Amino acid sequence: MSVESILNQKGSEVISTTVDVTLSDICVLLAEHKIGAVPVTGSSGELLGIISERDVVKTLGRTGSEALSMHVSEVMTQNVITCQERDSVLDALGQMSQGRFRHMPVVRGNRLVGMISIGDAVKYRIAQVEMEAEDLRSYIAMA
Ligand code: AMP
Repeated sequence: MSVESILNQKGSEVISTTVDVTLSDICVLLAEHKIGAVPVTGSSGELLGIISERDVVKTLGRTGSEALSMHVSEVMTQNVITCQERDSVLDALGQMSQGRFRHMPVVRGNRLVGMISIGDAVKYRIAQVEMEAEDLRSYIAMA
């Protein structure tokens, strides 16, 4: 099963942000959309980084409440691991588990075409395993 099948199910709308936004605005954005991370894009839509709830909490813990007026550019992770629509869900899941992050922007060339989370990938994996188990049960019942 490919990453594209997740996007087909959940849609490819991506909530993104820009480098000049404050952490306070990021808290509002994450809460409003009930999401855990947002990709950071430049003026042509190119991917510049990612900022997640974990970055916000870490910065708040280190700096205190002044962190809320810091800009995304000071806090985001710049070296973003991305995937493509044709990649397998299992590969994406493996990269997220190994890298200890829970979100992956999906890109087509330079363009951001979606976002998947470890929750999306696990849900699809479970559905796939259940389907395989059902196929096996039917096969055994026919034998
Ligand atoms: P998360 O588990 O997604 O909340 O992120 C944990 C840490 O990994 C944070 O510092 C994020 O900025 C960073 N991060 C999240 N997603 C990615 C990604 N796809 N590539 C690289 N770093 C990421």
